[in-house]
Amino acid sequence: MTIAIYPGSFDPITNGHLGVATRAAKLFEKLIIGIYDAPEDKRPLFSQEERVELARQATVNIANIEVQGFSGLTVTFAKAVKAKAMVRGLRMGADFEREFDLAMMSKKLSPDLEVVCLMANQEYQFLSSSLLKEAAKLGGNIDGFVPKHVAVALRKKVDIKM
Ligand code: ADP
Repeated sequence: MTIAIYPGSFDPITNGHLGVATRAAKLFEKLIIGIYDAPEDKRPLFSQEERVELARQATVNIANIEVQGFSGLTVTFAKAVKAKAMVRGLRMGADFEREFDLAMMSKKLSPDLEVVCLMANQEYQFLSSSLLKEAAKLGGNIDGFVPKHVAVALRKKVDIKM
């Protein structure tokens, strides 16, 4: 079985992430969305358990997508779940340099793991979890950017924090 992972912080999962995941699920027999524990450079709004749950609900109708939380190196997680590929999404401009560096590093650490980048869907090119959180904090309408249950969770979280 050809397994791929789609790793990220997914804080929270957006329609942009889901576009990439849905398309990747058509390329591989199994796609595992891997959710990092706590990225060092970011303080996540949602706990890892919450992010996993939001992603699970968002992909419940796609039979070959699984969601798992992980900590430590992404390439170690890839090896543990026997993934042959790592999927990443590329938005216009902004993502390329970082993704290129990540791909080079991962190739050094794990030469057999192929990095597969899918272009972001056109309508979500400018959507990021951080912008989304900013918009939610300022009371913006986020309904077009995330599934309904994520919008509800985000509004609730932002209200608690304010
Ligand atoms: P990280 O924490 O590794 O930066 P994210 O959780 O922000 O990751 O995103 C995970 C992956 O999804 C990354 O490859 C990122 O480039 C991609 N991604 C983020 N937002 C979008 C979007 N709107 N459309 C397509 N891909 C996206």
